[in-house]
Amino acid sequence: MKKFLIILLVCALCAGFCLPVFAEEETGDRLLTLVNPWNTLPEDWTVELVNIGNGHKVDKTCYDDLMAMLEACRADGLSPQVRSSYRTQKTQEQLYANKVRQWKGYGYDEEAARKKAATIVAVPGTSEHQLGWAVDIVDESYQVLDERQAETAAQQWLMAHSWEYGFLLRYPIDKSQVTGIIYEPWHYRYVGRDNAKKIFASGLCLEEYLEQEAQRSDVKATVQAALDRIPVDTVRRIFRLLTRGDALFEIITGQISDVMKP
Ligand SMILES: [Zn+2]
Repeated sequence: MKKFLIILLVCALCAGFCLPVFAEEETGDRLLTLVNPWNTLPEDWTVELVNIGNGHKVDKTCYDDLMAMLEACRADGLSPQVRSSYRTQKTQEQLYANKVRQWKGYGYDEEAARKKAATIVAVPGTSEHQLGWAVDIVDESYQVLDERQAETAAQQWLMAHSWEYGFLLRYPIDKSQVTGIIYEPWHYRYVGRDNAKKIFASGLCLEEYLEQEAQRSDVKATVQAALDRIPVDTVRRIFRLLTRGDALFEIITGQISDVMKP
């Protein structure tokens, strides 16, 4: 990492570049579309709905993997049940309004009730269920949507295996501050098998993963832009210096900070 930073600094200096301020970028992967309290459903979002039984529908993109996941879970003797799936804007509006009403019933004023409701039911236009790629799954033996759901056998299985089928437990217990949503040990979001494998292994939630990817591509683009402007021989010499040990880092960083002095 140290070497990498120095290379970046040297390249940036040689090319007269400023280091970038990291900004979130589009990954270009539709499967990683971010929908959360701060990112609304894309206006041109379209779904191709497929029935999955009991009145539930999902977008065709995740249908095969969802069926495979539920089947594998059942094959292990468990009883997962889809409790919620694709939602229209109208359905989401009704759910949200109900939740606001509930909190007002507890004595909260309109604004406070709305805020409280938003951590439990996504504000219309910001629910992953509107993507057609999210499902709430419960264990047949315990169908309540609360934290105890995490202790059920079906949920334990899903938490361990959903990534193998392209799904993520989207609102983990320790990420509420980042996702803006309470711990939901029943909400699974489809991101495709390759993405799910990487994200699960990283231990990051989707927001953190996307931020990390954006930073990586910013760094790559900056280094590449700088390298493109330095003669290859110079790059080779800098690289040789940088791979010769810590003592040289000090000389190089010393020189860089001298140059950077106002
Ligand atoms: Zn959900």
